[in-house]
Amino acid sequence: MVPGAIDGLQEVDYLTSDDALKLEAVPDEFVIVGGGYIAAELGYYFGSFGSDVTVIEAEDTLVPREDGDVAAAFTEIAGGRHDVYTGYRASAVTESAGEITVTAEAEDGTEVEVAGEELLVALGRRPNTEGIDLDATGVATNDAGFIETDEQLRTNVEGVWAMGDVADNGMYKHSGDYEGEIVIENVAHDGSREADFTALPHAVFTEPQIGAVGKTEAQLDEEGREYVVGRAEFTDTAMSRALKLDEGFAKVLADPETREILGCHIIGHEASMLVHEVTPAMRYGATVDGLANTLIHVHPAMSKVVMKACKDVS
Ligand SMILES: Cc1cc2nc3c(=O)[nH]c(=O)nc-3n(C[C@H](O)[C@H](O)[C@H](O)COP(=O)(O)OP(=O)(O)OC[C@H]3O[C@@H](n4cnc5c(N)ncnc54)[C@H](O)[C@@H]3O)c2cc1C
Repeated sequence: MVPGAIDGLQEVDYLTSDDALKLEAVPDEFVIVGGGYIAAELGYYFGSFGSDVTVIEAEDTLVPREDGDVAAAFTEIAGGRHDVYTGYRASAVTESAGEITVTAEAEDGTEVEVAGEELLVALGRRPNTEGIDLDATGVATNDAGFIETDEQLRTNVEGVWAMGDVADNGMYKHSGDYEGEIVIENVAHDGSREADFTALPHAVFTEPQIGAVGKTEAQLDEEGREYVVGRAEFTDTAMSRALKLDEGFAKVLADPETREILGCHIIGHEASMLVHEVTPAMRYGATVDGLANTLIHVHPAMSKVVMKACKDVS
């Protein structure tokens, strides 16, 4: 998504994530506007190949939709390898002699100028439902442009189904795959299978990784829902110490009465795998105490960080 609020953007040769993945040479400097997961992953990727990476993000942290503690930790780690400007909104872009300059402003009016060989604009993605004359079909979309579906992934029009990024169930490869299985069963085999996204995990593939499922503290606060928190550091596990991993933690949020797990947020080595410790527990209604006390964990497996976070829930 490339909103028109950045002066001069349409006149310069900027990259989208699709373009960036097709570059044939590693740019010396790689400037990214936007600090979400695509910026995080591509910044890490180009940085690993030797580009000097600069990231400009309007919010106070990178990956601002992640849990606040995870986002803050990630921002600090990313700041150690990139030039990171959080709290700065890109306002103008110019290009001269093959160099692109981005001007960004903080809320108090402070300006920075950042220049580089390539500019990636990573300001989010939206469903590709415009420009295909969807209105002519009568298929309904919501305010954000996603096609509305019921639990069986039928749209409001008989015989039309929606799955993948156009449907409002998470813009992930794995949610699209899951929806695909349901649609095939319901369409080709006349089934009535319903989608359930209660424990839809996601990950950010950097080093360290982020793995998360369920609600963040900010989302629970917004809902006015009570919760208790448990946290454990990777260094609390013998495997992390053996691997000399000195960063990362797991955090579990649970209902104080029912002890139902409401969310789990992990930053650390292989967090995308570790989060699957919690997704079955959430999906099948196990409590945080069940995960902490009745599941026996292999010693010294790193998944003990999740068990320890569950034990830490008061
Ligand atoms: C840089 C990046 C990294 C990502 N990393 C991850 C990740 O690590 N894990 C993850 O789960 N998800 C990731 N995603 C998201 C993931 O790619 C999408 O959620 C997934 O591809 C959605 O699948 P889809 O089939 O709905 O859409 P797409 O994969 O986008 O496929 C849609 C297809 O439709 C075609 N098309 C578009 N318009 C038309 C038209 N009018 N007529 C005919 N064909 C058309 C397109 O050419 C495209 O081939 C990432 C996305 C990006 C951009």
